[in-house]
Amino acid sequence: MTETSEGAQLGLQEKLGLDVFKIDSEKPHIVIDHAVCRERCTVRPCLYVCPAKLFAIQPDSDDIFVDYEGCLECGTCFIVCEDQALSWEYPRAGYGVQYRFG
Ligand code: SF4
Repeated sequence: MTETSEGAQLGLQEKLGLDVFKIDSEKPHIVIDHAVCRERCTVRPCLYVCPAKLFAIQPDSDDIFVDYEGCLECGTCFIVCEDQALSWEYPRAGYGVQYRFG
């Protein structure tokens, strides 16, 4: 728990809700190669490891989708994607997450 200047206690979800995201809509910093994903991946670990739960299956195509705009920049998805279907880099300067409570 974190105590604010007003003395209120904040839980994890409340703290994450205070983070600010500056979205780079011109250059996503996470890109999925769907062809590689379809051909090689059998376990889809990205669906389970993201702390922000940003990966999902698109119902119409069964492809994986990532909502990169809420990314916490931990890099976990890139590490667990052993099939190298993910391209990952930090957002460009001035974009991405700004943490408020670490
Ligand atoms: Fe989720 Fe971390 Fe990957 Fe961002 S870098 S999409 S927070 S697992």
